Amino acid sequence: MSVSSLTDTRWRSNFRRRLRAWYKRQARDLPWRRSREPYQVWISEIMLQQTQVSTVRPYFQRFIRSFPNIASLAAADEQDVLRHWEGLGYYRRARQLHRAAQQVVAEFGGQLPREPDRLRTLPGIGPYTAGAILSIAFDAREPILEANTTRLLARLLAYRGDVGSAAGQRTLWALAAALLPRKDVGRFNQALMELGSLVCKPRAPACNACPVRTWCGSAAHGLQDQIPKAARKTAYEEIREAAVIIRRRGRVLLRRCGPDERWSGLWDFPRVPLSAGDPAALAGELTRKVHRLTGVIAAEHRHLKTIKHGVTRFRITLECFEAAYVENAASQPHISPQKWLWPKQLPSYPLNSTGRKLAGLVAGHPPPAGQAARGQRTNPRRRAYAP
Ligand code: SF4
Repeated sequence: MSVSSLTDTRWRSNFRRRLRAWYKRQARDLPWRRSREPYQVWISEIMLQQTQVSTVRPYFQRFIRSFPNIASLAAADEQDVLRHWEGLGYYRRARQLHRAAQQVVAEFGGQLPREPDRLRTLPGIGPYTAGAILSIAFDAREPILEANTTRLLARLLAYRGDVGSAAGQRTLWALAAALLPRKDVGRFNQALMELGSLVCKPRAPACNACPVRTWCGSAAHGLQDQIPKAARKTAYEEIREAAVIIRRRGRVLLRRCGPDERWSGLWDFPRVPLSAGDPAALAGELTRKVHRLTGVIAAEHRHLKTIKHGVTRFRITLECFEAAYVENAASQPHISPQKWLWPKQLPSYPLNSTGRKLAGLVAGHPPPAGQAARGQRTNPRRRAYAP
């Protein structure tokens, strides 16, 4: 099959008919498919980027309950939006969603625009999301191309090039557009995505159950495992960091991550890069770096646990400590907002996943005997590092 073969209208209508019949039988009942309300389509499409359907399901329902429309999302505090996003990752999506809702209220009278060019001016809405919103909510004749349809269409075409290249994208967008029916476009686009997700899977596609196998170039030549061409492997970087629970009279210190930080807008326990491998040098390094970050001097670091986790291309070994507050000795004016919080206040602050684990430690483990009291003292002779 080639893009030019799609001028054959009978071929296209057979393809659409088979795909629609399959979708009617096999479509999953997903909460965001019960409504064609543009706002709900938009939220689901943003959540589904880089996140699995099973993970998104409860988040979507909770989000819609709390922010049922664009106006309520626009009026919400960003912290509240991030709290609802906590655990989904890629928090930039939530911040952009919030900003976009405010822009829709300010510039488009609270309604998502129906024109692709205006829709794409909103933060976080690219060609795919615009196509999904316009076709599903407004039945506009707009194609979509995301991970599932990229794989499906590349296999149908037996496209051996790089699907991420400009030429690959041009070819696949052209195919996605050529396949579109005149009516019921959103349903057709969803059927393509569903087929890619359930049948034309990345590994071991279920070709025997595929409704469009008759027209599949990859199945005809046994190329399913080679198409799409494997993307270049991500080069992961190993890094070591430390997070410190600083205790002061029963409360702990949280700081809000700045705009240039990995978890911008979320709150976190003081977290610093770690270089010292030597335990004797570690306390000094921690004290110095935490002081630079927060203005707070803490001492008596006690190792709690090691957490290994990944964020984008980083493989992080996080050494978790607790320490006692000594004094506040801020030496620089531009420190991110920070708060001393009671353990029971932590659930209402948006944290990253490791921050939430540490919050669990705070809730489950009171400070060692005597430390709460020592956290009040300001005896600088006890500190490991003096600025
Ligand atoms: S026949 Fe196989 S490879 Fe081709 S589209 Fe269907 S599932 Fe994918």
